[in-house]
Amino acid sequence: MARYTGPVCKLCRREGCKLFLKGDRCLSRACPQERRPTPPGQHGSGRKKATAYSLQLREKQKAKRAYGLLEKQFRMYYDKAEKMRGVTGENMLILIERRLDNVVYRMCIGASRAQSRQLVNHGHITVNGQTVNIPSYLVKEGDVIAVKDTKKDKPFFVELKGAKIANLPKWLSFDTETLSGKVESLPTREDIDLTIAEHMIVELYSK
Ligand code: SF4
Repeated sequence: MARYTGPVCKLCRREGCKLFLKGDRCLSRACPQERRPTPPGQHGSGRKKATAYSLQLREKQKAKRAYGLLEKQFRMYYDKAEKMRGVTGENMLILIERRLDNVVYRMCIGASRAQSRQLVNHGHITVNGQTVNIPSYLVKEGDVIAVKDTKKDKPFFVELKGAKIANLPKWLSFDTETLSGKVESLPTREDIDLTIAEHMIVELYSK
């Protein structure tokens, strides 16, 4: 599946906020967004006044980049959300939040969404006992997400065993001893910790 392979810190600087794309480095003082919080490029800090369109575009790019999605995939979630009952912007974010790669990240199995996607792609993760290697798989309430038994002795997962997890969202549970967790309920908008004005994305796409 196609994915962005360029420098990711540049994306944070472009969006003017931390998108947490690099795992532990994002929490360290080496984070370029903290050291140099200006847009990338020679004329980065001297950009023109923002227009309504540019603000909407930035919100869309921010959400898309935070979740590591490409335009086509992101638009697909919008189209799906538009057909659902309720608020389109919220539904769109909730759908994306339910992706298996995001759930693996939110359970702190992977340090970033990119790493979590790789763990899923490489068949390290099971859903209800079955290996699922599709990062876009949408989890459902009651799904049991676990590290595959045959992979648990890999150094990456041995290190995770018994670790303390901070900021586990309330819609998920995860036991670092058994390396398995559960989707306790579906996420709501309040469970999504990204500061995104989703109504601006809807305004952009509905033009
Ligand atoms: Fe963004 Fe993380 Fe890079 Fe900081 S270290 S700029 S938060 S990807």
